Parts: sequence; C-alpha cells; structure tokens
Amino acid sequence: MNGLQRFVLAIVPRRLGQAIEKESRLWVSVCPGCGQETSIWEAGGIRYLAAGNPRRLRRCPNCGPRWHVVMKKEESNADPLPSKW
Ligand SMILES: [Zn+2]
Repeated sequence: MNGLQRFVLAIVPRRLGQAIEKESRLWVSVCPGCGQETSIWEAGGIRYLAAGNPRRLRRCPNCGPRWHVVMKKEESNADPLPSKW
C-alpha cells in the first residue's frame, strides 16, 4: 500500500475504505502487446465508482511503455476481455 492509499483509507470511514479497496482490486490495466494484467490496487492506484475503459500509459515488463486498457474484472465473468476485443 502506498502513500495515496494510506492517506485515503485514513480519512474515510472504515467501511468505505474496505469498499474502495475491494473495488480497486477488481480493476486491472491490460497490456495490448502481451495481455499482461496489472492490478490497479497492487500498482498503488485507487479506482472507485468509475466506469468505462480509459487508457493509461504504463510500462509493461515485457513490451516497455504501452497504452494499457483499464478494465474492471467482474467476479463472475469467465471472459475478462470486453466484447469488442
Ligand atoms: Zn506487454
């Protein structure tokens, strides 16, 4: 957990903090080159009450800097990729 996450969890009520962490853990950024998924939470980010699939420039350990697609993993969804893929 990094400084941003500690700060947010320190100022919000405990139940809200747990909800923020739970939802943030569902979001991943996916490399378009090799398909590697990086957890937003594990990368030190927070994503809560968000929608859509924005793109973020991130460094992939295999491909280098790439525009990753940020997507939410649904817990009951067998196919993590959006239908347009
Ligand atoms: Zn990659």
